[in-house]
Amino acid sequence: MSVVNRPSLSIVVPMYREEDSVTPLLERVHEAMESYGGDWEIICVDDGSPDKTTAALKAGRQRYGQHVNIIELQRNFGQTAAMQAGIDAAQGELIVTMDGDLQNDPNDIPRMVDELQDRDLDLLQGWRQNRQDAAISRKLPSKIANRLIAKITGVELHDYGCSLKVYRAQVLKQVRLFGEMHRFIPIWVAGVTGPHRIGETPVHHHARQFGESKYGISRTVRVVIDLISAFFFLKYRARPGHFFGSIGLFTGAVGGMMLAWLLGVKFLLGEDIGQRPMLMMAILLLLAALQLITTGVIAEMLSRIFFQASEGRNFSIRHQTTDSLNTHWKRH
Ligand code: UDP
Ligand code: MG
Repeated sequence: MSVVNRPSLSIVVPMYREEDSVTPLLERVHEAMESYGGDWEIICVDDGSPDKTTAALKAGRQRYGQHVNIIELQRNFGQTAAMQAGIDAAQGELIVTMDGDLQNDPNDIPRMVDELQDRDLDLLQGWRQNRQDAAISRKLPSKIANRLIAKITGVELHDYGCSLKVYRAQVLKQVRLFGEMHRFIPIWVAGVTGPHRIGETPVHHHARQFGESKYGISRTVRVVIDLISAFFFLKYRARPGHFFGSIGLFTGAVGGMMLAWLLGVKFLLGEDIGQRPMLMMAILLLLAALQLITTGVIAEMLSRIFFQASEGRNFSIRHQTTDSLNTHWKRH
């Protein structure tokens, strides 16, 4: 086998109730990374699992040593926050995210790293062409969602929801994840570097072997709301208040013209305007305008606070076993 010198890599895996998957997952990752030819670590984030996920991780660390880093969150914060905790701790030049339930295939990782570099991308998204999930409750809604997201955002990918992705750490670390937005990371990355820096590649996908999916169709609503906010963020990133402000100004202008017209009718023509529906309309429009402009100002202030606060965390850590993070990786 040829000796390759690949960049240092952190594999981030959020885990909630994955006690049975942990051991085979660590085994498969180690097998897949044996020939990697660069420094690598896996950061497993136990997202407050009530089962034996942490114990299984500790056993894995005993076996594999400092390749395995464990972050235990205080409670269940959700996949997105768990992923962010892992990303914060990641030390590699590249970051891979994947699921902890063996649905993604670690054997795809080395090839994806090469492809990211060959194509000079900041994000390489996995595409589950043979997705092994329920057709009606999972595959269909995500097909529709993927189409919509691509149309709305102009970031043309087939499978946003696939967790298996490779990123340049420098770019991913500029994005703060919250809500359910791990699905939309490509959109946010596009906001940082531009859509041309994002690509996709087919990956393997397996049916869930142990435990059960934490998501049902009920999640869709939350996802849609997050999509809308991601879209607004992308479009009005720097000045979200301008969106409301400009509707407000337009409404105000229409209302103002109506009122001016009515005042003309009253004072120039001397007609009574008290009974006219248009007067009511004009007053309502002016009030709406006032509210919209105020909303715009508040949005503007909030967005400023958002940018300042985005250094903050949306999770809390109970315990962290990440030795390799304190020692400098040795180059091979
Ligand atoms: N997950 C998590 N916290 C949660 C729910 C899920 O860390 O609150 C993890 C889970 O352990 C898995 C990944 O996120 O590694 C994806 O979850 P799941 O397999 O349930 O989603 P699906 O593959 O069905 O979309
Ligand atoms: Mg899964």
